Amino acid sequence: QHPTLLVSACLLGQPVRYDGHSKGLPATLRETLAARYRLIVICPEVAGGLPTPRPPAELSGGDGHAVLRQAATVRTAAGGDVSAEFVAGAQLALQLAQEQHCRLALLKANSPSCGNRQVYSGRFDGQLQHGMGVTAALLNAHGITVYNETQLDKLLD
Ligand code: SF4
Repeated sequence: QHPTLLVSACLLGQPVRYDGHSKGLPATLRETLAARYRLIVICPEVAGGLPTPRPPAELSGGDGHAVLRQAATVRTAAGGDVSAEFVAGAQLALQLAQEQHCRLALLKANSPSCGNRQVYSGRFDGQLQHGMGVTAALLNAHGITVYNETQLDKLLD
C-alpha cells in the first residue's frame, strides 16, 4: 500500500485556478508521483465554495495562521472578504487529509491557500513575502508536512 499524498488539484492539471487555468506538472512527474504515492486531490478554494474563475485574492494583515486566528483576512483587490470560504476550504482539506491518513502534502507555491513558504503581499503588487497560505497553515498546524512543486526532490528522493 503506497503512502497517501494530498495534492493541489491545479498541479494535476485541473483548471481550478482563479483564472480558470491549471498549473499542471509535466506528465512524467505526475506519473512518477502516482507510482510512489496514492494521490488525494483537492482544490481548497473550490471546496470552500468559491467559483472558477474567481477574482484573485491575497492575504491581508497576516499569513494563513493569522487568518485562522481571525487576526487577518483574505481579500480580493476590490476589498471583498473571502476569508470564510478560504477557512472552510482549509478545514475540508484537513478533514480529507486526516481521513486518508496523509502525512505529506504537495501544494502549489505562493497561493493564498496552498503556499507553504511565501504568499503575495496583500497589496496586489506582485511582491511575495514569507508566510503560509490558509490551507498550508492548517495542515502544518496538524502535523502534515507541506511541500511545493519546487521541492519535489523531498518527495521523490
Ligand atoms: Fe491550486 Fe490551491 Fe489555488 Fe486550488 S487553491 S487553484 S489547488 S493553488
